[in-house]
Amino acid sequence: MGNNTMVGGYTQYLTRVQGMPPNAVKSIKKKTDNFVFAKHGERKANTIAIATLYKEKDKGGLSLQDIEAKNEAIDAMRVRTYTLPPPLRPVWCKLADRMLAKAAVKKYRNVGEKALINPFLQGWKVNLSAAGLPRNLKRMMKVGYKYHTRPTPTGATKKIMEQMPIWYHTGAKPKLVSIYGDSWGVCQREIHGIMYVGEMIEHTERLSAPGCSLRKNCKCNNCKTDRARGCENPTKCRRNAIKKLDNISPEWDPRKTTPKEAVEDD
Ligand SMILES: [Zn+2]
Ligand SMILES: [Zn+2]
Repeated sequence: MGNNTMVGGYTQYLTRVQGMPPNAVKSIKKKTDNFVFAKHGERKANTIAIATLYKEKDKGGLSLQDIEAKNEAIDAMRVRTYTLPPPLRPVWCKLADRMLAKAAVKKYRNVGEKALINPFLQGWKVNLSAAGLPRNLKRMMKVGYKYHTRPTPTGATKKIMEQMPIWYHTGAKPKLVSIYGDSWGVCQREIHGIMYVGEMIEHTERLSAPGCSLRKNCKCNNCKTDRARGCENPTKCRRNAIKKLDNISPEWDPRKTTPKEAVEDD
């Protein structure tokens, strides 16, 4: 069995499944070093640096596999799978969502765990040393952060913009127009169950529903329903929702897309 089969073949399948522990990387590197230089377990200096051997044969190397680079590539693949659109995501991604939310850095938990939907779609951060966060997810996040994985608004349709999580939006302005943790923010999340940009827009659109008096005791259906659920003042709550939407920078704001784009999207 060639060394590359050993280093790169058998180990990669398992790494894809569970992530390679640091001790295994160290052990494989040591075995590789021992095998390539025929040291038979002896400790002696290498005549050629191991980094040279990773190079291709025509560049003076042996095309030896760089196990760390390969592991990083596997973690990057995991990031790619994790960030696939919802219908294409395998089941493990849903479990990962919950485990990552539980490992969120404390200051981001003011919106509640449920609103922490995806650390790559939103601006909240995962505590990489959180107890209980599986090693493979730690590695995935580490690589994701290393390469600044985040969605870009370029080419995003109105529909995609509406499907983005509203809380800790990736395109939030550096200084928020309206904070997330105020009483309206709590009402929007807990009473109205608003998690996505599109849902927040629907909330604001009830301000212009026919028959709404915009008064605290308005008798229109929307206001009655919202008050019955526990919203103290639906009109104020909806007006605040406009401010929450104003937290999003214009390139991510579906209210600001041109009519042409909006038509193409439907
Ligand atoms: Zn009303
Ligand atoms: Zn409300």
